[in-house]
Amino acid sequence: MSDGGPAVANHGEDGELRQSPSTTDTASDSSTAVGSSLILHSQAQPSGFLARFRYSLYAAGIALLFTPLTYLWSGQAPIDPTNYVERTRRVLKTTPLIDGHNDLPWQLRIELQNRIYDGRVDLTKRLLGHTDLVRMREGMVGGQFWSVYVDCDVNQKHFEDPSWVVRDTLEQIDVTKRFISEHPNHLQYCDTSACARAAFQAGRISSMIGIEGGHQVGSSIASIRQIYQLGARYITLTHNCDNAFGTSASTVAGGGVDGGLFKFGYEAVKDMNRLGMMIDLSHVSHQTMRDVVSVARAPVIFSHSGAYGVEKHLRHVPDDVLRSVKKNGGIVMAVFVNRFLNMKHPEEATIHDAVDHILYIADVCGWECVGIGSDFSGTPNVPIGLEDVSKFPDLVQLLMERGATDEQVKLLVGENILRVWGNIEQRAKEIQASGELPVEAEWERREWHKGLRGSPWMLRGSRVGNNQLKLID
Ligand SMILES: [Zn+2]
Repeated sequence: MSDGGPAVANHGEDGELRQSPSTTDTASDSSTAVGSSLILHSQAQPSGFLARFRYSLYAAGIALLFTPLTYLWSGQAPIDPTNYVERTRRVLKTTPLIDGHNDLPWQLRIELQNRIYDGRVDLTKRLLGHTDLVRMREGMVGGQFWSVYVDCDVNQKHFEDPSWVVRDTLEQIDVTKRFISEHPNHLQYCDTSACARAAFQAGRISSMIGIEGGHQVGSSIASIRQIYQLGARYITLTHNCDNAFGTSASTVAGGGVDGGLFKFGYEAVKDMNRLGMMIDLSHVSHQTMRDVVSVARAPVIFSHSGAYGVEKHLRHVPDDVLRSVKKNGGIVMAVFVNRFLNMKHPEEATIHDAVDHILYIADVCGWECVGIGSDFSGTPNVPIGLEDVSKFPDLVQLLMERGATDEQVKLLVGENILRVWGNIEQRAKEIQASGELPVEAEWERREWHKGLRGSPWMLRGSRVGNNQLKLID
């Protein structure tokens, strides 16, 4: 197995630890601490100026001896700013790189029919496609939102029917949890932001579940709650077709009306905020984005989207929405799909286009609101230079070459999504503490079973007019 994965942070395993006259703040703080503790623990308390001075000299001398160690403890040895490889290694060893969107569970479904125990696929070996654990470690991935996706029905025949879409979604959650637990040395299932941090500290890739489409909950807010209980932590409000909640970008791209967020969608947003289920706006129309951000009581996320100002693809985020996401405290995680990066000549899209989107989002929305959402293993269309999960460090290096600081890169790769997620969790706690009840609204075209004629009732007259009902026995 590759040893390229995230090691325990702050152990200064960067190799090139060099002493420099420009001691970092952290290092000098540590030196002072060493000196102070020596004075405090000295056995004979000296009296007089000279004695105190002598001890101070001892302390300073010992602190100097300890200085290289303080570099080791802080992990902050200076690195040549143009040594992008080493800077990238250090950032990714101390900050988890968390990708917002990987569709490996979809491959488990279509290629293995979710049978993962028969030895056909070993994720600890190099596989075809974009994702395996070998390359995740090479790519220094620190956390992954695994996308749980089931086809949305573009003909709109099934989106009100929970019978197969919800079943298949449950199966995808099941197989995702099973493959995570099959690899305890590499992966750790997480449903909180604190867990994602702890998993990284323990050298494992935190593994979270996101649902890629509101169609997957059978047009039911009760289903959203149950899917939250099963561990899913984001729902993409729409995939490539409209559903009971709102309008998708694909509908508008196909010439349809942008109806934005629907009435029932507002109810879903309300309860997702109460739950702490992250609202993912990748795939939704621009008006749906605007409507959601205008009413959301917690930050929103885009798990895999780009900037409309860079490439006029309707699933990308326009500038006005980027500015309102900045106010909302949300995050746009930049997608790698080549046909979204270069619509006219997708085959010419490169890693540099992904960098352009990231820098643009950072420019309009701020470095606090940008992240990474690859779409690996979902799209067949990846840009040159970002062929698989091992390539994340190349992206970071290019960003540094383009001027990004280590602090900005830390925000991008993981600190932003962890902060945003933590704020969403906190907001949910506050809303729940206020006594807000779960939403009982239903989709307006929902039909209910009328019951059976001979069955008992709680309310007299609640089934008047139902004489045609069958007898219970
Ligand atoms: Zn997608």
